[in-house]
Amino acid sequence: MTTGSAKLAGVIGWPVAHSLSPRLHAYWLREHGIDGAYIPLAVRREDFAKVIDGLQRAGFVGGNVTVPHKEAAFALAHESDQMARAAGAANLLLFRSDGRIEARNTDVSGLVQSLNEELDVTAFRGSPVVILGAGGAARAAVLALDRLGAAEIRIVNRSLGRAEALASMLKDRVSAPIRCFAWNEWARAAGDAALLINATSAGMRGGPPLDISIEDLPAGASLCDLIYNPLETELLKQARARGLKAINGLGMLMRQAVPAFEAFYGVRPAVTQELSAELEKAPT
Ligand code: NDP
Repeated sequence: MTTGSAKLAGVIGWPVAHSLSPRLHAYWLREHGIDGAYIPLAVRREDFAKVIDGLQRAGFVGGNVTVPHKEAAFALAHESDQMARAAGAANLLLFRSDGRIEARNTDVSGLVQSLNEELDVTAFRGSPVVILGAGGAARAAVLALDRLGAAEIRIVNRSLGRAEALASMLKDRVSAPIRCFAWNEWARAAGDAALLINATSAGMRGGPPLDISIEDLPAGASLCDLIYNPLETELLKQARARGLKAINGLGMLMRQAVPAFEAFYGVRPAVTQELSAELEKAPT
């Protein structure tokens, strides 16, 4: 089956209703007058491969992939880019006309660009940095911080075993040493850190807040909370109240979407203040 001239893509996740990606891609489709659509696809873990096959048959050009499918997306692809191989996970699948599926990871470059453009990366290049969390977002954060020249990457996670598993998976793929800390060792990990990335889901709307003291970070540290709903988490409020330079997850979200949109629709879109304002208006 084919779809005529309209180019179809979407975001596949479970749950997916919270995703800002449809709003983001719709903005660029309108801006560039492209005949295309980008739709949210709520897909359970056990249905992922069947749905990918169906989307391919229905003429989709590809899709973004979010929790919990990023590892499965990487595993089912016929080819992958270097960053997807390093992460063992993909957030972008492209369906080729010969039936082959290509996996890419644009999360890492999205975060690298966000940190580069929104914070002063020279402030943490060559210094220890801390990541809270050990899930998919933390995996991208380890690779991004290594590329930005962190001297040591410290992972603090509620379940220490999950942090250790992440470190052992990534240790041969990064230059910086990775050290793992239990949650109650946060203050020790944070004491001389130049940057904190919150890659946990604690602080998301409707969930529990993050249980750490921001006071344990040094005065000159920067902070990036990967959460974007709400835009201003309690952690960000506390960081700004302390005078720390702090950014939310919208910057990464917008920048990981740029290469995806270009691959789907053939136009490289721009990250602008207007786009950011459009996403900030999204109902929560
Ligand atoms: P995962 O489910 O893979 O991992 C969640 C992590 O959060 C785990 O390390 C978990 O710890 C930890 N966690 C959950 N609840 C708490 C709590 N109450 N206290 C301390 N730690 C907690 O999720 P992802 O890695 O995919 O996503 C994490 C966050 O990053 C989400 O908020 C997501 O929205 C955001 N994100 C942002 C992106 C962006 O573009 N800005 C892209 C991807 C994600 P444990 O292992 O102990 O369970």
